[in-house]
Amino acid sequence: MFLNHRDAPPLLGHADVPARVTESYILTGYRFPTYTLRQCLLSAFRPTNETGNFWTHFLPVFVFAYHLVEVFWWDGAPPPGDPFFYPLWNYVLGVLFLLAASSLAHLLNSMSLVVREVCFFVDYGTISAYTVGSSLAYYYYIHPRAGVLETGQGWAANGSSTEPPPPPPPSLLASYGFPGAGALFEAFYVPSSCVVAIICILSCCNTRQRWRRHRYLIRTLVFLLPFLVSSTPIFYRLLTRSPYPPASASFASSASMAGYFYRHCLWLVVSAVFNISKVPERLAPGRFDVWGHSHQWFHCCTFLSILDEFHMIKAEVRAVLLRPMLALPEEAAAAAALTALPGPTAPATYGVMLLLQATIAAIIGWFSWHAERIYGAERDQLARQGPKGHKCH
Ligand SMILES: [Zn+2]
Repeated sequence: MFLNHRDAPPLLGHADVPARVTESYILTGYRFPTYTLRQCLLSAFRPTNETGNFWTHFLPVFVFAYHLVEVFWWDGAPPPGDPFFYPLWNYVLGVLFLLAASSLAHLLNSMSLVVREVCFFVDYGTISAYTVGSSLAYYYYIHPRAGVLETGQGWAANGSSTEPPPPPPPSLLASYGFPGAGALFEAFYVPSSCVVAIICILSCCNTRQRWRRHRYLIRTLVFLLPFLVSSTPIFYRLLTRSPYPPASASFASSASMAGYFYRHCLWLVVSAVFNISKVPERLAPGRFDVWGHSHQWFHCCTFLSILDEFHMIKAEVRAVLLRPMLALPEEAAAAAALTALPGPTAPATYGVMLLLQATIAAIIGWFSWHAERIYGAERDQLARQGPKGHKCH
């Protein structure tokens, strides 16, 4: 039968598996790193110490997809394939790859010591790529000038025409920001996000081969950097007034942004606390081996932070779609002053992401080659001897 575990290899204690695969304060529920692909997949339905890690990032895939579909039914929304949605798709794919890679990394890592390393390199790669997907969404939807995105271009919101807008009053132009800083931001925001993402994957992969002692601290702190860089459009928006006219529907939609952002930050902080502290298993080693250990809470909190981020992005997408200049003609003139922000294009969104993915793939390849050199011999020995012949403690 599909879920019959009688033939599955027995689960082991931390003293019965190579030190490399043990986790602090987790004493039982280990799989010996010689599983076949089929055994790994079936272990999702067994009480191993990775089962909860798998489900806490696998089930969220469906929750996230559920929250996505409503966007395409909103009034004024262009078709899903329209360039307007390119940044959103990049963000969505970034999140889905992150969740899928993370859950599969936890499920498949008992195939061998080398596969285990590769699994987690891919995991870090998808987290890094997700941060750039976020930046693209922020750039096009939360950018201080995003409210005028697509003005006078191809599609029409609320059945409006795409006539060229009237000229702007210069006084209002200044109230939206600092012209010099704006140019700097537009030139460097997305490239900086990419560079920071590459720093992240390099650092995280390194923690698997050196800096082992403080690996959880380094991996957590390293992702503070993309958060700070990616969130600059949000910090700007929180410090300045909304680009939307106060009486407009766009203003109302955009008003929820701050609340979602603060909650997004709160979940990130809580997830970091779980990841670094290793509570609750630190307080009662062996008690939370299968269910309830810190990594599962870390997964839950990171997903909740992603969900709040997604609600925030959706609120801003909706604000852009509602086109405030239709509601208040005099403000339309001000908004029209800011149409220099080009709309999303395939090279500026998918192109950037593909280039980044290629770089990440090369980095993963390089670290995997090193992992093969470090763990290849031990992997072959474990495969020959199996759990019974393994004496490491
Ligand atoms: Zn994980």
